[in-house]
Amino acid sequence: MMVMATLSNVCGSVLSETLGDDTKKIINVISTPMEDKDISKELKLDTSRVRTILNELLVRNLVTVYRFRHDTGYCNYSWVRREDKINEYVDRYLSDRITELDNQLSCGDLIVFECGCKRVDYGTAIEQNFTCPDCGGKYGQVDASKGSRQLKSELKRLSALRNAS
Ligand SMILES: [Zn+2]
Repeated sequence: MMVMATLSNVCGSVLSETLGDDTKKIINVISTPMEDKDISKELKLDTSRVRTILNELLVRNLVTVYRFRHDTGYCNYSWVRREDKINEYVDRYLSDRITELDNQLSCGDLIVFECGCKRVDYGTAIEQNFTCPDCGGKYGQVDASKGSRQLKSELKRLSALRNAS
C-alpha cells in the first residue's frame, strides 16, 4: 500500500502564494510517481494544464520525471516531487521576503510619495515636478505609518511561517 505524504502547511501556503493553487495541488499529490493523466483525473484539472505546470516545475527543478518505454515503443512518463528542492525553494522564498521587508521597514522614516501607479522618494518627486511621467498623476505624500503597519504584519506572518517550517 502506498502512503501519500502531504506537504506541510508552510510548504503548501508558500507554494500556493508563489506558484498558484493548481501548482500546489499538483505538487501535493505527486509524493509518489504519477502520470499526467492520473494527476489530471485526481485533481479534475485539464491534462494540458497539468502538463504545462509539470514542465514549469521541471524547469524549476522541483520535480523529477521518469520515462518507461513499452515494447510497442509507446512511452509513459511519471512525475514525482523533489522533497529536498521544494524545502529549499520555500526556505529561500521566506528568507528573501523577510530580508526585503526588513530593508523596507528600516527605510521607513524616508518620505515617500505615490501617484496612481508607483511609489517614489522625495528626490524623484522633486525632479519630476511632483507629476508622474507615466500616468500623469500628481505625487501625494504617503502615510508612512500605515505602510509600515502593513509591512510589519506581513513580516510577522512570514517569520511565523519560517519558524513553523
Ligand atoms: Zn504614475
